Amino acid sequence: MTQENGQPKPKPHKIIVAIDGYSSCGKSTLAKALAKTLHYAYLDTGAMYRAVTLFMLEKGIDYNDPAAVAEALEHIEIHFERIQGQNHTFLNGVDVEREIREMRVSEHVSPVSTISAVRRAMVAQQKAMGKRRGIVADGRDIATVVFPDAELKIFLTADTDVRTSRRHLELAAKGIDAEWDEIRRNLRERDHIDSTRADSPLRQAEDAIVIDNTLLSEAEQLEKALSLAQAQIGR
Ligand code: C5P
Repeated sequence: MTQENGQPKPKPHKIIVAIDGYSSCGKSTLAKALAKTLHYAYLDTGAMYRAVTLFMLEKGIDYNDPAAVAEALEHIEIHFERIQGQNHTFLNGVDVEREIREMRVSEHVSPVSTISAVRRAMVAQQKAMGKRRGIVADGRDIATVVFPDAELKIFLTADTDVRTSRRHLELAAKGIDAEWDEIRRNLRERDHIDSTRADSPLRQAEDAIVIDNTLLSEAEQLEKALSLAQAQIGR
């Protein structure tokens, strides 16, 4: 591609999009759609904390014991692979995409995520994955801690009952059985732990743009986020 002056057209620069917000408010749906449209990588940081939690549960590790946690972290390798267009999380070479979404993991993931040693290990990997930019990441501390220099920071919110219903449908689609009330209780509990923990609590970055998607369709929220991203890419 050349410009009118015959010079090669400069490549659009790649940005980082950081999406934070409460549990099940559609962060991953938005992040995946945005990454796909922009041809960017998608980073599901929640999946990493879930994989660490699964490891602790399966090995019977007491995560309140700092020495046991430090030892466990030495034996955890997490990576992502695309399988038939879907993001799959691998823990020590095993595809755990389904297991990490189960309620037994959801019940323990927030306490595990309060542990500073766990956060340090995950954040270091996440920063490395964003080195070349061109990434959409979602989580709780993305705009505040992982990528404070992200060009676009979005803070997503939605009504709790709407979030519960979406989560309920999402789990049912994956064949995971869970009661609506149990899901709602878990969401509220995780929101509380995530936003009150001492190390990198969930909070809206000062320069984040809030999108409340309670009444928005997936297409509408994508359209909003895309125009914000394109404005940054074109700068
Ligand atoms: O995004 P998801 O709901 O799968 O995340 C599961 C849990 O992982 C959250 O409730 C939170 O406790 C933790 N988490 C975190 N920091 C992130 C992403 C997730 O503490 N960046």
